[in-house]
Amino acid sequence: QPEEDWKRSDVYHNSFLIPKDEALEFAQKNSQDNDLPAIAVSPAQGKLLNLLARSIGAKRILEVGTLGGYSTIWLARALPEDGKLVTAELEQKHADVARANLEHAGQYSKVEILVGPAAETLSKLKPEQPFDLAFIDADKMSNLIYFLEAKRMVKKGGIIVVDNVVREGRVADPTCNHESSEGVRKLLRHLKDDRDVDATTIATVGEKGYDGFLYALLNVQNIAYSQ
Ligand code: SAM
Repeated sequence: QPEEDWKRSDVYHNSFLIPKDEALEFAQKNSQDNDLPAIAVSPAQGKLLNLLARSIGAKRILEVGTLGGYSTIWLARALPEDGKLVTAELEQKHADVARANLEHAGQYSKVEILVGPAAETLSKLKPEQPFDLAFIDADKMSNLIYFLEAKRMVKKGGIIVVDNVVREGRVADPTCNHESSEGVRKLLRHLKDDRDVDATTIATVGEKGYDGFLYALLNVQNIAYSQ
């Protein structure tokens, strides 16, 4: 029963590292009560996003895929009061639930939720200042489009994180031709030759199963690590 072990391990570690949090629990319950799918990041992953954003002193964050705003709350909390988070979501209902959850968490003033297909939303964005960090977690077949848009708007030295890039090993399984796996492969093929970016995949296991994050750093100099 490895899945049970993974969950128990997350719960065990969280019991030391992540205090009980009324606003995050509200967001999870309110999302569930509104029939949103249970596909938000886990608490440990949410906290990692929060720590990454704080580690780089992020003031401006871009998110693709809001759902009920669970990851949005973690990220928004990393921002100073005058920080800004722009998040793109296809479904109006998800955006409405996210808004309620963000308001409940006292974070809505920092957040702008843009409703519509993210490819269109992002193509229209022309931020006055670049983003420090982008988190991509929407429809996986469009990963490369979102990555390239994020790259256009994230500053050099900034970070792009892409969720669900391992998919229980299916991305590396040549017999899997699911569009989500194909979407991750397309991104990987692009990254192989993109000299502006250095990236790595960290596979994770926990209450969300066996998956992984891709972590990409936009090079300050136009020189990839391998050169
Ligand atoms: N980041 C969220 C979290 O961890 O709390 C979870 C996001 S969920 C995995 C993916 C979201 O992307 C869903 O809410 C879905 O409606 C949205 N989505 C799917 N296709 C999209 C598109 N073309 N444009 C924007 N959002 C899309």
